[in-house]
Amino acid sequence: MSIRKITEYPEPVLGLIGRPVEKFDDELAALCDDMFETMYDAEGVGLAAPQIGLNLRLFVMDCDGIKLVAANPEIVATEGEQSSHEGCLSVGKVPAVVVRPMKARLRAQGLDGEWFERDAEGYAARCFMHETDHCDGRLFIDHLPKLRREMVVNRFKKEKRWK
Ligand SMILES: [Zn+2]
Repeated sequence: MSIRKITEYPEPVLGLIGRPVEKFDDELAALCDDMFETMYDAEGVGLAAPQIGLNLRLFVMDCDGIKLVAANPEIVATEGEQSSHEGCLSVGKVPAVVVRPMKARLRAQGLDGEWFERDAEGYAARCFMHETDHCDGRLFIDHLPKLRREMVVNRFKKEKRWK
């Protein structure tokens, strides 16, 4: 296992629609081990493949009691609305309030290639949607009004310069 370098905004890979995962083999399992290790090291609750520079539809998460690997994820149903702070390891965890559905149903393939569906609410639902967005080349700041998006990006750039 090894910790991978986290890709940060505005790296182009973060804006690409990911390629589907096609092989469910030991290599994929090893990649997911690295992704979990990288995510825990960065104290995140979810990490998608584009965040370590790979143009792939794949994420791992361990959020609010839900720990899973999702290959080729899609959100197949949503309900309600929630509005709370969200951040992203690729945008220096600068927080911003994002409005999203309260509940979400994720459909994806596990490490064995079997399709599964999982329902979540609140924080975990937010994580499903945030990570699935990454696989579609979307960042949480793309959900923000223009001015707030600029504020987050500017704060991120400033903090990066100070590092
Ligand atoms: Zn993110």
